[in-house]
Amino acid sequence: MNPIQRVAIAGGTHGNELTGIYLINKFEQFPHLTKRANFKTQTLLGNPKAVSAGRRYIDKDLNRCFGKQNLKDMTLSCYEEIRAKIIQKILEHNGQSPVDVLLDLHSTTSNMGVTIILGSLHPFNLRLAAYISSMNPLIKLYSSAQAGREDVSLKSLGKFGFTIEVGPVAPGTLNAEMFQKTEEIVQGILDYLEKWNQGKISDDKMPLTLYQYVGVIDYPRNEQGKILAMIHPQLQCRDYTALHPGEPIFLTFDGEAIAYTQNTTLYPVFINEAAYYEKGIAMYLTEKQELIV
Ligand SMILES: [Zn+2]
Repeated sequence: MNPIQRVAIAGGTHGNELTGIYLINKFEQFPHLTKRANFKTQTLLGNPKAVSAGRRYIDKDLNRCFGKQNLKDMTLSCYEEIRAKIIQKILEHNGQSPVDVLLDLHSTTSNMGVTIILGSLHPFNLRLAAYISSMNPLIKLYSSAQAGREDVSLKSLGKFGFTIEVGPVAPGTLNAEMFQKTEEIVQGILDYLEKWNQGKISDDKMPLTLYQYVGVIDYPRNEQGKILAMIHPQLQCRDYTALHPGEPIFLTFDGEAIAYTQNTTLYPVFINEAAYYEKGIAMYLTEKQELIV
């Protein structure tokens, strides 16, 4: 594999997630923080108009606009569709190669702690994730990659793409602890890449706990799409905790519990994420995998 030559760090892909926005501002004010000996780092604000407006997006979710077809389709004219093509241009080198590593900084209202989302299960991604989590075992690793499911998020523009999600953080707010943890993880990844280029990362196998996406659960809804229940109090904030068949996941407004009916134990994440009500997602379901990479 060729050395890592270019790294991009993005924040503000969602305009109301202040952690990434203020971290990008800091990195742009103090460029030495992201400077490393053997690759170039660039920073960018994903959705400047939404950042100014203090909103997640203007017309549609930018982080769903990076599908290959969408990027080629010049008839798509809403702000985020156009912005996605501009970002692609910004990240291309001489109009041809993708950036080697892309880090996209997000926050969530869910109790996700500090999570690295892997765009693919390429050995390079898995080794990096295992190394970073060995430095800090509290970091959770989530893979959204699944055969036949295209990654349409910003991280897909990198040869190796990672989203960093921290939470719970309310939209439009800063949480100093989460800000520092995000900065720490970015620094850890940049240091790793520098060492990797220098051949200083050992080949020893490492253990890795990976939460692999398997599906989503929506809220119970009526024909008009109105939700009929809330996340059950016993499930609230229980991201990455085993959910067993028969356990309650929703509570109706009349106080009736609705149980999880699948017959396998899975691990929900993004439970009660505010921005996912409109997407028809009450939580993602993941399978917990213990790997050696
Ligand atoms: Zn986000």
